[in-house]
Amino acid sequence: MTIETSTEYNNGTVKEGIPAFRVMTKHLPGPWADTPEAAKEEFIKAYEDAPRPFQYISRANIERCRMWHPNGVQEWTISDWAVAMAGEAGEACNAVKKLRRIETGARQFNGPKSHPEAVQAIAIELGDTFLYLDILAWRLGVDLERAIIDTFNRVSIREGFPQRL
Ligand SMILES: [Mg+2]
Repeated sequence: MTIETSTEYNNGTVKEGIPAFRVMTKHLPGPWADTPEAAKEEFIKAYEDAPRPFQYISRANIERCRMWHPNGVQEWTISDWAVAMAGEAGEACNAVKKLRRIETGARQFNGPKSHPEAVQAIAIELGDTFLYLDILAWRLGVDLERAIIDTFNRVSIREGFPQRL
């Protein structure tokens, strides 16, 4: 399997030609360094065999982002994107608060009037949060999907659980 190189995420901080996986692994915090060789091999195999279900979302997301930011994703700082993501996560939490008001029968001046309506409002904000998370990762030169797969599998291997992505 060909591993995409980090040059796709050209943010000037990663060297051309180094597979994104290696770059990411290199920067993994402590636990990876302490992982036994056999577990590392299992991890790498699980990693390389993993599907890429979110890749098409990410591509469209970045393409659309460039329409908002003609000078590219770099136009905003890493902090800007992080704030945008956290803002949407906050909106998600606010929507959850409104759901909770419905569940507890508390007064609500405006907002959803039913449980399904409240859940739908939360879903919208979760989508927003993910889309900014995706851009933040891109801005950092991190392959988000790979990071998720990496983290999931590493924890599964560490804990002895059978699930792999
Ligand atoms: Mg929102």
